[in-house]
Amino acid sequence: MMETRKIPSIDKIVTVALAQLAVPAGARPQVVAAARQVVAAVRQRLVGGEKVRVDAESLAAESLRVWQALNTPKLRPVINASGIVVHTNLGRAPLSARAAACVQAVLSDYNTLEYNLAAGQRGNRLQGIVDKLCALTGAEDALVVNNNAAAVLLVLAGLAQGREVIVSRGQLVEIGGSFRIPDVLAQSGARLVEVGTTNKTHCRDYARVIGPDTAAILKVHTSNYRVVGFTAQPTLPELAALAQAHALPLIEDLGSGLLLPLPGAAATEPTVAAAIAAGVDIVTFSGDKLLGGPQAGLIVGKKVWLDRLRQQPLLRALRLDKLSLAALEGTLLDYLAGEAALAVPVQRWLRRDLAEMEQLADALTAALAPLAQQGWKIRTLALDSQAGGGTLPEVPFASVGVGIRLPAGATWLERALRKAPVPVIARIQADELWLDMRCLTVRDIGAIAAACRQAVGGER
Ligand SMILES: *Cc1c(COP(=O)(O)O)cnc(C)c1O
Repeated sequence: MMETRKIPSIDKIVTVALAQLAVPAGARPQVVAAARQVVAAVRQRLVGGEKVRVDAESLAAESLRVWQALNTPKLRPVINASGIVVHTNLGRAPLSARAAACVQAVLSDYNTLEYNLAAGQRGNRLQGIVDKLCALTGAEDALVVNNNAAAVLLVLAGLAQGREVIVSRGQLVEIGGSFRIPDVLAQSGARLVEVGTTNKTHCRDYARVIGPDTAAILKVHTSNYRVVGFTAQPTLPELAALAQAHALPLIEDLGSGLLLPLPGAAATEPTVAAAIAAGVDIVTFSGDKLLGGPQAGLIVGKKVWLDRLRQQPLLRALRLDKLSLAALEGTLLDYLAGEAALAVPVQRWLRRDLAEMEQLADALTAALAPLAQQGWKIRTLALDSQAGGGTLPEVPFASVGVGIRLPAGATWLERALRKAPVPVIARIQADELWLDMRCLTVRDIGAIAAACRQAVGGER
């Protein structure tokens, strides 16, 4: 007997579905599409010999589930209790209040994106950014594209296409998400000339290979690993002098793009201003790593070189959208106001003091105390957070956490917290759930406590 014959018509399923839920008329074609998808899946399972319910009620309910899943935003806020400050999977840098306000201000209205109000004509798209970036980095000029990978590509394509770029073998790095310096170089049309060894490269290694085809010297900040021990790299001033003697641009891919020096062990991370001051001609960096703004690729340096990049057709393909520009301008305003250390979340979290995090841990521990009755063992613990985003991999940021041990093991709680109305992202260490306080606010503490209580309710 043909089981598939028993499947009701799409019309019938949709009619039953629309009786179950008032779907706006404009969305009905989507319900029809969902019903078709459900029926196709059911037919396949029946043909495969499975037993499947084919009554109109079940198929209608399943169609509505499919339709509702499609109509729910997947990009949602989460609470970051991982202790990884620049977490690429969690959207890297949360915006500052000022950056968010700048985005909000232009979100639903026409704006001055490429309009010069004083002249009443077309204006420069980067008018709000260039002066600010120059003031903050000491550079002569600036350009912005949609991420740092694009910035590196543009610089190499614009200045070295068909010619040679010299890179130390110690700096042929791979950044997460398949960004590899040799591949980006190949994509740009430049030829890679490797010099030195994995652990040691000297200035004379660069000097030896400079020839008529040389277009640039590229230094890559090894942001996500360290070569330690018997190592050597020329200093920036040495490389800058060599480049200048041959009228070549010295390019540095700085990766993180720190504008404000970090305290303590993190003070090793170089700032953009330091690279410019050391004589680097062009510095590229991300907007959403240590700078703490939106995804963007920033290029600062000498005007002669940046003017050449402005001629590149690629620039149009890599340009930043208005919302990111607004967010970037707002973030730079925080730095110009001297308020970034407190106002820009990434900066604030990296500088957070232990006392503040201990207060949050105490508040959470107190809020969870009643769960001791369920056998929960809750303690405050010392742990290390990470900068994340491939930056400062070796630098531990001493932090405070709350650890939870449960009779049923920590895995189910970790999972339950991910299902909370605002999902909480935590980690498990030796069968204990760890919530790192570094990136949390007082409001988050309340939400985490509520999510834990709800998880217990759901467990029963
Ligand atoms: C992160 C990083 C990149 C890529 O930057 P995106 O903004 O993620 O495109 C390139 N180079 C270095 C050294 C980096 O650290």
